[in-house]
Amino acid sequence: MEEKQTNNQAEELTYQKKSFYETADEDTMKAIFAYATSYAAFLDKAKTEREAVSEGVKMAEAAGYTPYTFGEKLEAGALRYYNNRGKNLFLIRKGTAPLDKDGIRILAAHIDSPRIDLKQNPLYEDSQMAFFKTHYYGGLRKYQWLAIPLAIHGSVVLESGEVVSICLGEEDSEPVFYINDLLPHLAREQATKPMASAVSGESLNILIGGIPCKSEDVSDKIKQHVLELLFEKYQIKERDFQSAELCVVPAFKARDVGFDRAFIGAYGHDDRVCAYPALTATIEDEDKTHTILTILADKEETGSEGNTGMQCRLLLDIIEDMAACDGVSGAAVRAASKCLSADVNAAFDPNFAEVFERKNAAIISCGAVMSKFTGSGGKSSTNDASAEFIGEIRRMFDKDGIVWQTAELGKVDIGGGGTVAKYIANLNIDTVDMGVPVISMHAPYEVVSKADLYALYRAFAAFCRY
Ligand code: MN
Ligand code: MN
Repeated sequence: MEEKQTNNQAEELTYQKKSFYETADEDTMKAIFAYATSYAAFLDKAKTEREAVSEGVKMAEAAGYTPYTFGEKLEAGALRYYNNRGKNLFLIRKGTAPLDKDGIRILAAHIDSPRIDLKQNPLYEDSQMAFFKTHYYGGLRKYQWLAIPLAIHGSVVLESGEVVSICLGEEDSEPVFYINDLLPHLAREQATKPMASAVSGESLNILIGGIPCKSEDVSDKIKQHVLELLFEKYQIKERDFQSAELCVVPAFKARDVGFDRAFIGAYGHDDRVCAYPALTATIEDEDKTHTILTILADKEETGSEGNTGMQCRLLLDIIEDMAACDGVSGAAVRAASKCLSADVNAAFDPNFAEVFERKNAAIISCGAVMSKFTGSGGKSSTNDASAEFIGEIRRMFDKDGIVWQTAELGKVDIGGGGTVAKYIANLNIDTVDMGVPVISMHAPYEVVSKADLYALYRAFAAFCRY
């Protein structure tokens, strides 16, 4: 009796991360796998921010959301969306609680991912091959993008103003694109270089063609042939690339990983693995008390600058506008608001254990991950969420038995990173980062756990409800 009490007491007093898979019952396992299937379908349809916004709009409209216009007073229960330039989406669900007392519950994820953009004058040929010149986007490890199948996604604005959408390389019947790599036989010198400089940005050229056109009086016959094909299929002329945004992304589909299918491999989990749960939790939420604002942001991977990134005034404008229409102070609304900055953290990887501090790293499958702070060095450039705010979030999660953990990004002095959290916190809004652990973050094919994905979805639902 005495000893048993001691054991119980030890269990009560200590904290240990546990795999969600280990504790999940049969129904929960079914729910985890079903949710992962719908997420994988979303991933394959939304590889760029533009595609994520159009999928988000479809999902919102199907749930009864209609466009938001500035100056409109929203009644309780109103469902609105604001599509910012096709790259940044806001979903608004007006609650019954007064905005200046209850604030707004904000979920903010980003929908841009590291990739390779085309330059504005990209097309050339050399040695019987035609190529596109590129400029990479976000923090990627260049060597990972060589010698893999690639697809081209994006928009071209023609001389007439007509916008042509392109998505080529995703269907099995379509061609893919490619960045040439060096054969090991001739890589002796390159192999001795540091990884960061072994592949230069200017060498990331996309192989796009190799058959010359029929005309005799043209100097670059392969380039000319590509232009003929582009004109035939899309009415694009070479000068139209100047008013284009074309993104090169991996042509892989989302797939289960492992004999037991515990994981999902895909391009762009960072940060669609948070954007999708934020969207679905918002749309399915049945509690009508709180006002919910779900943001899918662009440009996080390049510093959140510009008019589709989280540093844009638009968030402030929307909050101020909603407050003004309700006849309350915008400052009071922001002071009462709460935000989960929905972004990923690095999963502890035993293959690279030296960069992590195991006790404070996110362990895969141990649930959604909260990052109290991000930044680098001595917590530089970070939002550091208060203990009081985390206490509040923790009590919400406890009500629904959410499986979650806390983590930092790697060892203290080893590197760092940031999210949109600080830009929202700077508006006087309590904010903390909440996401899932990711393996091989920013690689062309990243891996997450289905258990963590489902835990995050349920965490967001709890945040909307309580
Ligand atoms: Mn991210
Ligand atoms: Mn990222």
